[in-house]
Amino acid sequence: MTSAPMSVDEGFVPWPADVAARYTEAGLWHGVPLGTRLRAAADAQPEETALVEGAVRLTYGDLWERADGAARRLDGLGLRRGDKILVQLPNRWEFVVLTLACLRLGVVPVMALPSHRRHELGQIAEQAEAAAIAVPRTLRGFDHEGMAHEIAAACGTVRHVLVAGGPTRPGSADLGDLCAPASAPDAARAALDADPPDPRAPALFLLSGGTTGTPKLIPRTHDDYGCGMDHAIAACRFGPGTVFLAAMPVAHNFTLGGPGVLGALLAGGRAVLAASPDPAVVFPVIERERVTDTGVVPAVALRWVEHREAGDRRDLSSLRALQIGGARPPGDLVRRIRPVLGCTPQQGYGMAEGLICFTRQGDPDEVVSGTQGRPICPADELLVVGEDGRPVPPGEPGILLTRGPSTPRGYYRAPEHNARAFTPDGWYITGDIVRLRPDGYLVVAGRDKDMINRGGEKVSAEEVEDLAHRVAGVAQAAAVAMPDAVLGERVCLYAVPRPGARVRLEDVVAEMERAGAARYKLPERLVLVDALPLTPVGKIDKKALRDDVRRRVSLDGTSRPAGA
Ligand code: AMP
Repeated sequence: MTSAPMSVDEGFVPWPADVAARYTEAGLWHGVPLGTRLRAAADAQPEETALVEGAVRLTYGDLWERADGAARRLDGLGLRRGDKILVQLPNRWEFVVLTLACLRLGVVPVMALPSHRRHELGQIAEQAEAAAIAVPRTLRGFDHEGMAHEIAAACGTVRHVLVAGGPTRPGSADLGDLCAPASAPDAARAALDADPPDPRAPALFLLSGGTTGTPKLIPRTHDDYGCGMDHAIAACRFGPGTVFLAAMPVAHNFTLGGPGVLGALLAGGRAVLAASPDPAVVFPVIERERVTDTGVVPAVALRWVEHREAGDRRDLSSLRALQIGGARPPGDLVRRIRPVLGCTPQQGYGMAEGLICFTRQGDPDEVVSGTQGRPICPADELLVVGEDGRPVPPGEPGILLTRGPSTPRGYYRAPEHNARAFTPDGWYITGDIVRLRPDGYLVVAGRDKDMINRGGEKVSAEEVEDLAHRVAGVAQAAAVAMPDAVLGERVCLYAVPRPGARVRLEDVVAEMERAGAARYKLPERLVLVDALPLTPVGKIDKKALRDDVRRRVSLDGTSRPAGA
């Protein structure tokens, strides 16, 4: 194994040396790679169950024999420290084994979502210069193996297509075989222990919800991600008795490390993977596995509450806490959790760019239902500013800036975007509008960034507009969020047709599907206009469009009127 430390990679923006030294001296950064920390947490209890997925049950001993075996085999395939693997896997056991193997070896997984398609994955593979892609053979009827080969053919750097669930194409490698136990576990472990990755190098890349036309890669180092997990574990009181259920896609930061599956394993608990957040799937799993903690977006929490209210009688008594985050919960949803599901709701607000806030168990009801929590780490810095960039008076709404030991100083290989997304002194500009209460709790009041939050899935307006402009009849396009009772927001497209052209929603959808865009980005309503409203400085007035679609939705009583 060669060791080219990623810290010298010109695409990675390190923390200033004095800040890094401060975080290390304060004990926030351990200076130990995540694979080593996770392996050490497992050593105390090799016989305990670590991971459950359907009929698959792995003890800590089994899990690490497989992870070390996979790490050695990745090395055998020629993957070197700092190489990237584009990982697009659903909630399968191979996801966890592969991720742990990467963390051990210093190969960097890039966490894509199962809903991403050629449009997103092709760009991500190019940006990351991915050396390998890991996919399921098929998922919900879609041929991921075929797509991975298309991407590999188009992107010059991809050398391996790793397929879970029985590959069928020549050139695919079987991810199940790659994740088999090491044939000589002690030797595999010794070799990996002897050559750990640099704790200040990126351990994994997350994808930004983003506001730009192309997805941005967020490099998370071993030290910074470990710090985030330590504090998320403390805030959510994870420990050896924790049974965490991953009901949302495990590649989401919230489900992966906030505290998530990796947090459960670091705390010596158990991670259970569910194939879908559907309550008909999840509730039997909670009952069978005696799940204690889980985390979902508000739209899913609402489905769970409604399913229960409709008469579900599964035994959910093991459930201690339900984390709700990713979007602001509607109405009285949070207040309904305890009486209906019998567990403590914990609101969360956070981002793959680092900052995580949670309400805590034991907080008064007013805090739990009325705020999105407070930062999990005392070293997280928050600043709420007005449009002029100056701090607003305490308690007033403004744009949240943040800095801290889990908030990277830049996206990967994106200097121009970094100049807009970060201040010169390292604050990340979240684009969220919040109020900071005197007790340190945050209330998310809105958003300043051009993004649509569809039930927790983030859609860049610019990306939808770029794709809509490919439709021949579209002269101008603007995507905005329209309110929706279930998902919070959906995508609405305003378009100015070219003279004489007829543009229908189906045309835009068909064009976006041809381009290979993920389904959750497709507009669900099209409004044709003669001209787009402009602000005094000549920009498209998105606020006016949002107000307009809000009016239309309330008149129609639905975000998706027939024939729209
Ligand atoms: P992601 O990195 O995909 O988790 O997206 C982060 C963004 O999701 C934040 O910047 C917010 O815009 C939004 N978000 C996350 N949690 C919440 C919440 N509790 N309330 C409102 N918006 C949220």
